[in-house]
Amino acid sequence: MLGCFAGALLAAVLALLFLRGGDDSGDSTPATANSGSQASGQPSGQDEQAAAGDSARGGAQPDDSWQPHTGPVPILMYHVIGDPEGDVPYPDLWLGEDDFQAQVDWLQDNGYTAVTLIQVQDAWYDGGTLPEKPVVLSFDDGYLGQYLFALPILEEKGWAGQLNLKAEGSDLSGKQVKKMYRAGWEIASHTITHPDLTTLDPASLETELVGSKDQLENELGIEIINFCYPAGQYNQEVADAVEAAGYRGATTVNPGLAEKSMPFELNRIRIDRDDGADALANKLSSAGA
Ligand SMILES: [Zn+2]
Repeated sequence: MLGCFAGALLAAVLALLFLRGGDDSGDSTPATANSGSQASGQPSGQDEQAAAGDSARGGAQPDDSWQPHTGPVPILMYHVIGDPEGDVPYPDLWLGEDDFQAQVDWLQDNGYTAVTLIQVQDAWYDGGTLPEKPVVLSFDDGYLGQYLFALPILEEKGWAGQLNLKAEGSDLSGKQVKKMYRAGWEIASHTITHPDLTTLDPASLETELVGSKDQLENELGIEIINFCYPAGQYNQEVADAVEAAGYRGATTVNPGLAEKSMPFELNRIRIDRDDGADALANKLSSAGA
């Protein structure tokens, strides 16, 4: 009996390895079952929520080639994925699906692997590992195209992004966000109402920081770990409040690579409309990646 069980287990492990190596990512919920065996400094799930939180550590899963990494990491900043129909308020925030696909293909062809910010932080602060050329793809606000286009394009590569989600007023339903989470995406807070945080009184600031974390955690049943400043607006008081609210890090719109030494002022590389693979390559190169 035992031999039979061991054989079945081996077959299951081999099947899993095969799935991970192939383009077809299969069903969307393998990460949770697998997460307990990862030696990347992850908390061992003490309750259901913590266990569920592990699946947000990234679509790309560690393998033997991943190494300790404390150097800077590029975080790309996207907004709407898709082509605007007619007049839209901020056309510069749009990136066509084809351009996005070309960028993701270029990243893969040039040795990059998309990870989540949580995986980067695990490597920076907790002895975790990263692929040789890690990159984080972050998506602000919660637009439908991020679900319709970015999710499947990344999933095809076994990758996931970081969704910086407004707790209220995004295009995405809770069901859609949960599907992204189950595909390995990190869901981070982008406040409740997307205000300029530098203009708020302390009570309102706390509501936007602590309240958004609580609201997203309760509605989605997951742990929210990171924060993204709306429109990149922050000052020292705001950054201190983000840290006090219990976040592990925060992304800005300051250009450059994200650095371990600046957890609440993480730089990002802005992707603009009509940026294709060449523009992405130039931006990464100018940032020093
Ligand atoms: Zn925003």
